Amino acid sequence: MQQLTKTQTVVAEHLAKLKPEFDYPLAPLTYFKIGGPAEVFLDLTGREEIIEVVQFCHKQKLKLTVLSGASNVVISSDGIEGVVIRTANEEYQLLPDKIGDQRLVVVGAGYKTGLFVRQTIDDGLGGLEYFLGVPGRVGGAIYNNAHYLSDLIGKHVHRVEVVTRAGEVKWLTQEECQFAYDSSVFHSTDDIILQAEFALFPGNKEKSMELVKEATLYRAKTQPLGEPSSGCYFRNSSNTPLLKARFAQYAERRECPSAFLIDQAGLKGTRVGDIEVSQKHAAFFVNKGQGTSEQVLELAKIVKKRVHEEFGVELQEEVFFLE
Ligand SMILES: Cc1cc2nc3c(=O)[nH]c(=O)nc-3n(C[C@H](O)[C@H](O)[C@H](O)COP(=O)(O)OP(=O)(O)OC[C@H]3O[C@@H](n4cnc5c(N)ncnc54)[C@H](O)[C@@H]3O)c2cc1C
Repeated sequence: MQQLTKTQTVVAEHLAKLKPEFDYPLAPLTYFKIGGPAEVFLDLTGREEIIEVVQFCHKQKLKLTVLSGASNVVISSDGIEGVVIRTANEEYQLLPDKIGDQRLVVVGAGYKTGLFVRQTIDDGLGGLEYFLGVPGRVGGAIYNNAHYLSDLIGKHVHRVEVVTRAGEVKWLTQEECQFAYDSSVFHSTDDIILQAEFALFPGNKEKSMELVKEATLYRAKTQPLGEPSSGCYFRNSSNTPLLKARFAQYAERRECPSAFLIDQAGLKGTRVGDIEVSQKHAAFFVNKGQGTSEQVLELAKIVKKRVHEEFGVELQEEVFFLE
């Protein structure tokens, strides 16, 4: 039997009841189907367990990486050192409390975003319909402030409960979360999201299902949904005078779609190994088979260089590289 590493030994001694896995293959968990093993992997279905593990890692000075649905990450082919947790706590509760006409619902970070949205519709609430097709779980959606066109999920959040890296549990108001396009305060604090409270207006189920259908059709038309990917690899770019002058159709917008710029640079279908710039949506990289994280990074380099040469724009990654 292979000898355990120091991290695996200390986890085996203290967290055996949480059934840790050692050298656990992560690629199958990811939407991109890329990545090596986690030194230690823990699938945590309870809020208390998440807190316990975060506090344990802090005390033992162990590196801790967090996943929810693994739909917005590129995991290194060498795997991830230290402890990897998946927040898989799926509680959902419609609270009796109200803010004006709005009802509050509280949802675990591990609840699948699509199922969560469906549950709110079934409970007669509206506002989240466009997010039904966002892959992954609520934790990841809050972390990067998931968006559908110009609608941002953070707009519907009332407050978020986190455990800090030092193990303190606290609630943050919507304002404290500092939601912006593809961003939140959690990028800088590194807090672990435990659950979120949403404030939602009463909806009309029929109307809600129409909005769901509209967004689902739009996604199917514009995104390579049948192929492994991590969604848009790049964020949309801030508009510049040069872009405004060249592309009148986006002149009034704050951002210019990165997919459009990549397409205009003639990069659709560009390939490194098994990783390809999608023919359907140029901001998506798709895995045509046995793609690796090295191929992803190489393709990103080519795309960034070409777009910079063509438009003077520095593309910024939307996905998170974990190692
Ligand atoms: C086909 C496809 C379509 C997509 N469409 C959209 C779209 O329309 N709109 C959109 O915004 N995104 C889209 N995405 C990207 C992605 O699905 C979303 O960003 C999603 O919300 C990520 O959630 P996740 O649970 O998968 O996060 P993960 O991939 O697990 O994690 C993403 C980041 O969040 C961090 N994180 C995860 N959970 C926690 C937690 N509990 N506490 C603290 N940090 C955490 C991770 O460390 C990582 O840095 C798409 C992706 C795919 C594959």
